[in-house]
Amino acid sequence: MRTALISDIHSNLSALEAVLAEIDKHSCQRILCLGDIIGYGPNPVQCADAVAERCEWSLLGNHDFGVLYEPTNFNTIAEQAAYWTREQFERDSRENPDSARKRWNFLGLLPVRKREGDYLFVHGTPRKPINEYLFPEDAINSPAKLAGIFDRIDRVCFVGHTHVQGVFTDDSEFWKPDELTDHSYPIDPQTKAIVNPGSVGQPRDGDPRAAFAILDTSGGDGKHRVEFHRVEYDIEDTVERIHSIDRLNDFLGDRLREAR
Ligand code: ZN
Repeated sequence: MRTALISDIHSNLSALEAVLAEIDKHSCQRILCLGDIIGYGPNPVQCADAVAERCEWSLLGNHDFGVLYEPTNFNTIAEQAAYWTREQFERDSRENPDSARKRWNFLGLLPVRKREGDYLFVHGTPRKPINEYLFPEDAINSPAKLAGIFDRIDRVCFVGHTHVQGVFTDDSEFWKPDELTDHSYPIDPQTKAIVNPGSVGQPRDGDPRAAFAILDTSGGDGKHRVEFHRVEYDIEDTVERIHSIDRLNDFLGDRLREAR
């Protein structure tokens, strides 16, 4: 089976549409979402509906939690965006109560972790599934943190949250897709790995193109692998939409151009 993995869409509809169109060209049987569907960007309602429609399931990210429940530990810009996002859902609930009810059911039941065999899926890390960040620098600076996280993994864990695409190995290395042959990581049955598909709607690794990955478990030899993908989208369209909304700070648009 070929499974597309998307994460951290952050209400960026232009990016999500480009990624979904690209996934359609890669013979995937299903799409999974690792959370942060909403928050920051200009099109939360449409993004939530597209994920509900196209994904087999989605996880709950810290921004989904912030909008639906309480924006804890958010900076002012993120908090303001969370309240604005919540108002968009509430407004649509008044205007289109039937479709909104379906959407609230989907959002209200987002799980914090999923397990399929010895593959685990969380937004943050296995020990703090919604909020903990695992940064590439941690592979060098915090080997104890990385070891503590790997202790909770049987084989492979898929995470989002940092918006940085790549693979952590349990010998404390981080591999960017550019450092892998064919941007592809062969999963060794004997070694553990943590894989981040990158962010659809707000990449922070210096490459402004939308990111996603494909987990391919179809190899007849039992070997699995992860392919990393990037796709161009209309960044200026999203920047303009953000700039036109007073309560979304201009920085949230500007950062998309530089992927920071
Ligand atoms: Zn995020």
